[in-house]
Amino acid sequence: MIESPAVSVSVLRSSSSGNSTLIWNSKHAILVDCGLGPRVTEGLLASLGFSIRDLSGVLVTHAHNDHSKTTTLERFFRHEIPVYCIPGVKRVVLRSLSDKYKPQFRTFSKVSFMIGSFRVTSFPVSHDAEGGCVGFCIFSGVGARAKKISLVTDYGMPDGRIAESLLDSHLILIASNYCSRMIEGPSPVPEYVKQRHILPYQPSNDHCAGVLLHVARSSAVLPEAVYLLHISKNHNTIERAVSHSQDTLHAAGYRQIRILPTYRDSSSETTHLK
Ligand SMILES: [Zn+2]
Repeated sequence: MIESPAVSVSVLRSSSSGNSTLIWNSKHAILVDCGLGPRVTEGLLASLGFSIRDLSGVLVTHAHNDHSKTTTLERFFRHEIPVYCIPGVKRVVLRSLSDKYKPQFRTFSKVSFMIGSFRVTSFPVSHDAEGGCVGFCIFSGVGARAKKISLVTDYGMPDGRIAESLLDSHLILIASNYCSRMIEGPSPVPEYVKQRHILPYQPSNDHCAGVLLHVARSSAVLPEAVYLLHISKNHNTIERAVSHSQDTLHAAGYRQIRILPTYRDSSSETTHLK
């Protein structure tokens, strides 16, 4: 029997207050990033009919607290859920964890690996995170019918590697952090934080739209939908982020790609890829 590639995705939360995305098919469920507290994570999983024990693994993009919360990692480890990350991220995260959890990390480098029935590849992303930062391509099913889901968050200046990694995805999750005009105006964030931490290490709506346009133009398969991650509360609005990418793709004739927002305080709509 040919295994069904059908797969579902829900972004549980996405913002500087915490990021976590659930991906599941008929056999397995995985979480990408765990930047929400353990109780919140459990509650959001339950709202979709899952418990922590149902997870086959947790992928971590980088060691910033809004993507890998120590208390939530400990909860996974207590349930013997493996956590997958690059060696640098393991080194940084372990500083605030007991050594007894060391064996539950599964580190990877460039080679693809399996979590249950999902095949996963990673690619490097430039970001100011100690230990490094990666994006993921996650495949459900095998062969020509496989569904490809790509996720990239917290990237600085987008480079060709990101666009290359996102080619031919059936679903893309990509950060669209700030609006270039809004970040120049007054905000509660000090100027040095904008200059040192946001502008070089987070993507603008323009960066995001540019990557998406490049991917659309160079792909044989267009994404059914794109989730915009990590939309800033101080320097962006959901409407601006969505309309920027949408208008850019529509103007180039890619009207069929749905641009979906994600939220800091509620879950996104769920996409089911058949
Ligand atoms: Zn980060």
